[in-house]
Amino acid sequence: MNPGVLTDEISKKFAEKLSSKITDQLNTGILIVDTEFNIVMWNSYLQVHSTKVSNDIIGKNIFDIFSELPQRWLSRKLASVLQLGTPNFCSWEQRRHLFELPHTRPITTDCEFMAQNCTFLPMQDDGDIEHICILIEDATDVCHYQGQLQKALDKLALMSRIDGLTQIYNRKHWQESLEQEFAKARRHEKALSLIMFDLDNFKHLNDHYGHQGGDEVLIEISKTIGSLLRVEDVFGRYGGEEFAIVLPETPIKGALELAERICQTVEKSTITFKDKDINVTVSLGVAQLSESDTSFETLIMHADDALYLAKNNGRNQVCSAKTTEFLQQASA
Ligand code: GH3
Ligand code: MG
Ligand code: MG
Repeated sequence: MNPGVLTDEISKKFAEKLSSKITDQLNTGILIVDTEFNIVMWNSYLQVHSTKVSNDIIGKNIFDIFSELPQRWLSRKLASVLQLGTPNFCSWEQRRHLFELPHTRPITTDCEFMAQNCTFLPMQDDGDIEHICILIEDATDVCHYQGQLQKALDKLALMSRIDGLTQIYNRKHWQESLEQEFAKARRHEKALSLIMFDLDNFKHLNDHYGHQGGDEVLIEISKTIGSLLRVEDVFGRYGGEEFAIVLPETPIKGALELAERICQTVEKSTITFKDKDINVTVSLGVAQLSESDTSFETLIMHADDALYLAKNNGRNQVCSAKTTEFLQQASA
């Protein structure tokens, strides 16, 4: 035999042995399929991370062995790798996992299975693409930290909208919502009403029960009133002991009925603070969006005027912007 051929044979065998050793030590799953998607080879990583036995899978179709795989989608992907001869990729962000392999994180994570980045490589043999190499990389850590980060961001976003004491919307978010509802009502020619209310004689209440007692009242009143509202209504703390509710698609009649219900419910409720019963009342101003309102600010102004009137009339009552309009006309 030609010594050159012998050397080639030896170095080829050595290279095969070496590459099999390397593939078996890699921290990446390797799976090779033929053009019919039958499994030709897999490495130790996959043997360790799946419960399958090598003898049972070699020569078998990938979709029979891994029944969890999205067959239509993956067949199309593999077919395009064969046809175009170019690599393809699927990140965990597109599909969290393809293969149901257990993850190796020692601490708990939201992922049930190992999150994966999968690469599909065409393998050319004598010019033809006869096989596809699927590389499976564990992305569970990245997926876990990304999830944690997203949760923190969501929490921050929520906190930036919520009032720390009462847990209802803060003024900034409430006002942004009013601005949006104002634009929507204008665009679709829908009714929009606003209730603004303020706790009566709250300074006395604070003096009598202390600031903590006052805080407790603000918390409990917010809860009580929140339970009277629809999900579409936007309830916010306007400042101090003043609150506001945006009522989308609600004409003044409905808004006045709700304001009356709030007034009576608050009057009837008793808040317990340090074994003492506290009773409180509210004054409310109601306004409906009208043709003359050029911005959401004028709507606030009208509701605020009505609230002022309710205070002047003796508190613990509801007044509407219509009443203020009538009084202004009468005094003109
Ligand atoms: P009126 O019936 O005219 O509304 O009288 P009032 O005493 O409620 O009104 P005023 O605006 O004079 O007083 C409001 C008080 O609310 C003064 C302020 O110390 C108190 N206050 C504002 N924010 C808070 C808060 O977060 N907690 C507590 N406990 N008190 C607050
Ligand atoms: Mg007050
Ligand atoms: Mg006030």
